[in-house]
Order: sequence, then structure tokens, then C-alpha cells
Amino acid sequence: MTTTPSPTECQDRRRRSLAELTGRKLDALLVFHLPNVRYLTGFTGSNAVLLLHPDRAILFTDPRYRLQATQESDCALRVAKGPLLVAAVKASRRSKIRRLGFESARVDWQAIENVKEHLSLGASLEPVCGLVEDLRRVKSPAEIALIRHSVLTTSEAFRRAIRHARPGIPERDLAAELEYQMRLLGADRPAFETLVTSGPRTALPHARSSSCPLSANRLLLVDMGASQNGYASDMTRMAFFGRPGPRVKRLHRAVLEAQLAALAAVRPGVSAAAVDRRARRVLRDHGLDRAFHHSTGHGLGLEIHEAPRLGKGEKTRLAAGMVCTVEPGAYLEGLGGVRIEDTVLVTQTGCEVLTPTPKELLLL
Ligand code: ZN
Ligand code: ZN
Repeated sequence: MTTTPSPTECQDRRRRSLAELTGRKLDALLVFHLPNVRYLTGFTGSNAVLLLHPDRAILFTDPRYRLQATQESDCALRVAKGPLLVAAVKASRRSKIRRLGFESARVDWQAIENVKEHLSLGASLEPVCGLVEDLRRVKSPAEIALIRHSVLTTSEAFRRAIRHARPGIPERDLAAELEYQMRLLGADRPAFETLVTSGPRTALPHARSSSCPLSANRLLLVDMGASQNGYASDMTRMAFFGRPGPRVKRLHRAVLEAQLAALAAVRPGVSAAAVDRRARRVLRDHGLDRAFHHSTGHGLGLEIHEAPRLGKGEKTRLAAGMVCTVEPGAYLEGLGGVRIEDTVLVTQTGCEVLTPTPKELLLL
């Protein structure tokens, strides 16, 4: 499996971005959101700006990355010592660019103020929102292969690490073991801070793994994902130490039913909001709609949270090649919370659940 995008794949991405740009009557685009730079150039460094112009694409970085940039990217390279945005705007002046787009949702306001004086007379900076992000929603076969790999790492790390779970050890020790196993399996890093919560703390959907001990006869929630070769995966599974009572079993069954219903709704052409509604309807039938207070899922790829969001009011239509999570949950104060999350590929006819880990309540 190739782990870096081929030059032709990056060229094709730039070509499609430029077509979008021309449609918006812009001459060029300043790209500085690093995942977008990586998507369009292959460059993985931490300081970069891309000036995307129909005649050429120029990648700006600093001297630390000179060699790496030539190895990773086929773009023309400019190494600058000062602020890269200023260098890129100065270069735009030489190319007689009039309407220069910039990623307005990603901006450091002061940085944009600082470059205005370097524009040529009559040239303007035009806000552009989500242009590259929209292209990134549909993954190429090579990207899907990388996400599959990342998903398998997450699931295998869970299988290996969960053996170490026992009542009394701190939540964060299990989180560390999960992250260690992901690293051993080739992950660059966790795609986000690994979440392990136990007992009533599972009702806090976005708590942090703490020094609280895992408790006997209580729920255990693990939300984890690898970032491998740049691509994220995301999974949540529930376990229980001992024999769960009827309330816990009912809660888990209801969330699983909601998750399966939402998965059954995922197919090309369906709106992201419709998938969210499916999960919500099942939870409402169980009297749990008010216990579900986040969206049903999110896209993922080079970033852990990408478009499309599977939530209320989201009009995006799903398309084959999109990859998203499906993760309804229900959180009851005192008892605890249950969330079940898979990473899912939208196919021509429906969806493929990439996550192989069983979803039943795992009894430890
Ligand atoms: Zn997650
Ligand atoms: Zn997620």
C-alpha cells in the first residue's frame, strides 16, 4: 500500500480546486490550513502556505523543511525566512493576480491584516470558505485504503489493550495502554485524546480520561482512534465489569438499535440530517431522545472532524466515497452513558461498516 499520495493524485486535486476557483471568479487561492496544504501537495510539515494559481502551484515553507518539501511534493518550492503569507502575497504580485482568495474560516485575522499592504494596487483579498474541504469529503481509493488501515489499527489496539482493563486501575492507565498499542501497530499518534471513562462518568460524553479508578459492576466507555499515515479512524465501544442489570442492558440495546437504524439509512443521496433523524427517532421510542445531545456522526479523513456533519439541519447529501462515523449515544446522570461508534464508508448502494470490533456490551 502506498502511504503518500502520488504526484498525479495531488495534481488532480489541484486541478479540481482550480476549477472551483475559476467558477468563483478568483485568480488564485492562498491555502494555509495545513490538512488542505497536505491534501493538495503531499507536504506534511508544520509550516506551509500554498499559492494555488492556474499557471503553477507554489509551496512556501521555512528552511527547516527544505529537503522534506522537495521529497514530499512536486510543487514549485519557495523557502522563506519570514512570515510565509507575506512571501506568498508578494509572489502573487509578480503573477498579476487581481482577486486572491484566502481560507476565511481558517484565518488568523492579524496575519491577514499584515499582508494587505503587500497586495498590488487594485488587487483584493477575497474570503473563500470550505473550497478544499468540500473536495476532501469524497475520498479516493488510495485514501480509503489508508482509512481502512487506520481503522484496523484502532480495532486491534482495542483488542490487545482491553485485556489489561480491570477494576481499580485508573482510567488514564487504560487510555495509555490503548495509545501504546496503537503506536506499536504503526499509528503516527492518536487521532484525538483517547477517552476512557467508567461508571457515572460515562454520562459525560466529552469528559477526559482521569485518575478515577475503573469501577466494578459499572459501565466502561472507550472512545479511541488512530491517526496513521495521516488518516484518522474513530470508534467507541462499551464494556461492563461483572453482570449488568436490566437498566444498563436496556440502555445499551436502545443505543445499538439506534446505531443500526442510522447505519441502515446511510446511502448515496440521503441527507446527513436524515441519518441523524433515524437515530433520534429510535431513541425517542425508548424515551431517550433527551438523553442524546450530540450529532449522530462526522466525516473524517486527514482530520478527525471533517465535513459532512451528520446532525440536525445538515443538508449535505451523502455520496459514495464519503467516510463518516455513526455514533449515537444516550447519557443518564447517575447510571452512565452508552455510545456506539463505527467508521463507515458510503458505497454505491449503501454503506460498509469498516470497524470490525463487535458492538455487543463486552463483559469483562
Ligand atoms: Zn469517537
Ligand atoms: Zn467521533
